[in-house]
Amino acid sequence: MTISNQQLFERSQQYIPGGVNSPVRAFKSVGGTPIFFERGQGAYFWDVEGQTYIDYVGSWGPLILGHAHPAVVGKVQEAASLGMSFGAPTRAELEIAELLCQLLPSLEQVRLVSSGTEAGMSAIRLARGYTGRSRIIKFEGCYHGHDDALLVKAGSGALTFGHPSSAGVPAETAGHTMVLDYNDVAGAKQAFSEHGSEIAAVIVEPIAGNMNLVRAEPAFLETLRALCTQHGSLLILDEVMTGFRVGLECAQGLYQIKPDLTILGKVIGGGMPLAAFGGRRDVMQCLAPLGPVYQAGTLSGNPVAVAAGLETLRQIQAPGFFDKLSAQTRQLTDGLTAAAKKNGVTFSAQAVGGMFGLYFRQEPPKSFAEVMDSDREAFNRFFHAMLKAGVYFAPSAFEAGFVSAAHSDADIAKTVAAAEHIFSQGI
Ligand code: PMP
Repeated sequence: MTISNQQLFERSQQYIPGGVNSPVRAFKSVGGTPIFFERGQGAYFWDVEGQTYIDYVGSWGPLILGHAHPAVVGKVQEAASLGMSFGAPTRAELEIAELLCQLLPSLEQVRLVSSGTEAGMSAIRLARGYTGRSRIIKFEGCYHGHDDALLVKAGSGALTFGHPSSAGVPAETAGHTMVLDYNDVAGAKQAFSEHGSEIAAVIVEPIAGNMNLVRAEPAFLETLRALCTQHGSLLILDEVMTGFRVGLECAQGLYQIKPDLTILGKVIGGGMPLAAFGGRRDVMQCLAPLGPVYQAGTLSGNPVAVAAGLETLRQIQAPGFFDKLSAQTRQLTDGLTAAAKKNGVTFSAQAVGGMFGLYFRQEPPKSFAEVMDSDREAFNRFFHAMLKAGVYFAPSAFEAGFVSAAHSDADIAKTVAAAEHIFSQGI
């Protein structure tokens, strides 16, 4: 007998707060019952009721090769059979560190951790330890994980649930975090003219993906780079989402911006808990055991996670990989835009590499304020109608979407046809 999503959700709510282990999974902002998944293969996954969905969430970004890619699964099985964890150095950790430094020229050294949150938190501590300063700058609507210092006017679930600044963060901690407007060059200049000598670091998503997708203006990132250099602050690019997702050279390559530190996650672990922070050697050498900044992890560099990451990074280096992924993603956003236009629906969309944003507004947004000025009710109706048609988009208007290499032309065409039908009924 099959069990229903509703039954599982009710049981889960008894034992897990809100029934979920990460808030956006609860479908609270779109309404309805979260789907409990059982199995995934390529671009598709299946829920406990036997329904099939085309997946445009990809576990929130990691699954650039789709679900259960045979080569990745094979490497994971092989690694697991040799031992799940050693808590001691392995050759594979060295190999992935070397590869990350080869692929991203701004990385001279890298340290592996298990989540993007840990990477962001560690990079902030390192920047503070290196500079001897406390203040940091972040931008409204950017999400860098749930570290206290970074959970101030944050995006993603924090934004979805209307608590962009979390309870439980001491005012003293949040007080060191200055929050500025994304893409606001004048605001950044002003903050540095007033506090430049106190700022340890600026942390920014070079393409924001946690307030839907918002592209940085090149001048914005160039200004942040110049201000950090001028004032002795560190520029931290959060490429947890964009890293090896928007292109092999990541967002820093697309924008030609060299950060002092980068944080990575998602794709580099291929669906396993793996993330990293790295950058300038002189900064990274402040970390224990060499220097005074402490950072550690029982499962850091876990061999099974590293095996998934190494194979994923190997696959995405295939010639033409990102050209094809970008073309496929653009096919989706162009198709949806055309379908909306044909039916007089106010809608826009854009893609960068394998990442996309869908907006129920005339133009893609350039700022947090413009993101807020979109029709969220229309998004919620669209989300549910697509879900019914077997297409799974992120259950929030504030998240970017992802296409994988496993999505075929036919999958994209099916998605566009479903949207066209929904738009023709009047969203
Ligand atoms: N930074 C960015 C840009 C992210 O998108 C996320 C997660 N969505 C994080 C950091 C935090 O990563 P994790 O969920 O692995 O802690």
